[in-house]
Amino acid sequence: MTASYDLMDYDEVLERFDPVMGLEVHVELATETKMFSASSAEFGGEPNSHVDPVSLGLPGALPVVNAKGVEWAIKIGLALNCKIAESSRFARKNYFYPDQPKNYQISQYDEPIAYDGYLDVVLDDGETWRVEIERAHMEEDTGKLTHLGGADGRLQGATSSLVDCNRAGVPLIEIVTKPIEGAGARAPEVARCYVAALRELVKALGVSDARMDQGSMRVDSNLSLRPVGTEEFGTRTETKNINSLRSVEQAVRFEMQRQARVITDGGSIRQETRHYQETDGSTTAGRIKETAEDYRYFNDPDLPPVIAPKAWVEEIRVTLPELPWVRKARLQQEWGVSDEAMRDLVNAGALELIIATIEQGASSAEARSWWVAYLTQKANERDVALADLSITPAQVAEVCQLVKEGKLTNKLARQAVDGVLDGEGTVSEVVAARGLEVVRDDGAIEQAVDEALAANPDIVAKIQGGNNKAAGAIVGAVMKATRGKADPALVNKLIAEKCAQ
Ligand code: ADP
Ligand code: MG
Repeated sequence: MTASYDLMDYDEVLERFDPVMGLEVHVELATETKMFSASSAEFGGEPNSHVDPVSLGLPGALPVVNAKGVEWAIKIGLALNCKIAESSRFARKNYFYPDQPKNYQISQYDEPIAYDGYLDVVLDDGETWRVEIERAHMEEDTGKLTHLGGADGRLQGATSSLVDCNRAGVPLIEIVTKPIEGAGARAPEVARCYVAALRELVKALGVSDARMDQGSMRVDSNLSLRPVGTEEFGTRTETKNINSLRSVEQAVRFEMQRQARVITDGGSIRQETRHYQETDGSTTAGRIKETAEDYRYFNDPDLPPVIAPKAWVEEIRVTLPELPWVRKARLQQEWGVSDEAMRDLVNAGALELIIATIEQGASSAEARSWWVAYLTQKANERDVALADLSITPAQVAEVCQLVKEGKLTNKLARQAVDGVLDGEGTVSEVVAARGLEVVRDDGAIEQAVDEALAANPDIVAKIQGGNNKAAGAIVGAVMKATRGKADPALVNKLIAEKCAQ
């Protein structure tokens, strides 16, 4: 993937260097209104239709804190095992950029609402890695720029730019890890698994849809190398623009291999932002990284301190839902599956689908079997995510019900599912159109059995001679004659009865 870059072989990187990593994750809260004004915080909309004097930075407009935003920030903080500050502050982070009409972003600086926490992350082999959280703070999102006249919407070569302030002021929580040390070869994996766990967590908390592809969850990954056996951190780069879990992993890996080559060849690493390139998994240089001093942070005089009394925090704590890792452990026990089987179904993206299928009436064994075996294979064949297959958990549960009632055999059930996947209609439409229902007409089946027996006297002789396996050929012939729709149990019963006569 990255063959054309001057990268050090991964194993060699690890012989020489020890990676140190820091992840900054921005989560857009799904509150109804913005962080400091009453405009809708909804994604999209006609450009500049979700705006007001505050989010446009008009003179004299004053911000008012969104209480829900604060409550949800506390929720995230609690779920991340953070301390919650009884009093925290909003600060102004000053810089000019046209997507931000006030010329400063309201953020939190030295007094974040939540700090000193951790998230236990399950890695691919089931091992747990504790990622320590430095802080989770509240801030506001910026607007969106669309550049016209250049190549693929980029600023480079553009002749004009459009500003849409719908997103300006949407509540954001920035979650910053402490430096992650000691992960070695697993650093890229730790990064991916951490972001996956965080995404699952905020979704379970109901505070964000955390869609990396739509920007409601955004990741910056900081990485530096130090020679093996040394303590002092090297210079870090901060890679932005990462919008999938796979890219998080690749961005870390690429930076490890790139930085190792630069340092080993006698060069030095600049503290800079870098941009992740989705096309080939590389990172390219961005701006020289500014330091905190450059932003001239100061407490925002328009906003009072945020007071979170202990009693309120405890009230919020009891509203926390069952957290994802607790829920997973409970389900694993209820279903009686191994650690490995559970991990596989989670990694396959089947967990929520299985749960939904069970909620629609299927047994856990059936639901797991469909999603983990047959449907995962179909998803692979079609190169789509399991959740994007055109069959719903309710439809899978319906198929399970038909099997349970003896109306479909397992084989016919798979054909019904195939029909739904191919867009032939609902389960009952596919069953009707493909004529899948098991033939319950015992007379028709009996006739098919009689015909098959009459046509195969040698096999009948074998069955009568005690060779029960020989019956398979008769079952096959009956199935062929009924186009697979005969109830196999009934067919076997009839063969046994007739041969015994
Ligand atoms: P910035 O304002 O530059 O974005 P933050 O403090 O918000 O800085 O985030 C920096 C992130 O990088 C944190 O996760 C921190 O733990 C991590 N970090 C700090 N120094 C290093 C380093 N030398 N190498 C790798 N990561 C680092
Ligand atoms: Mg930062």
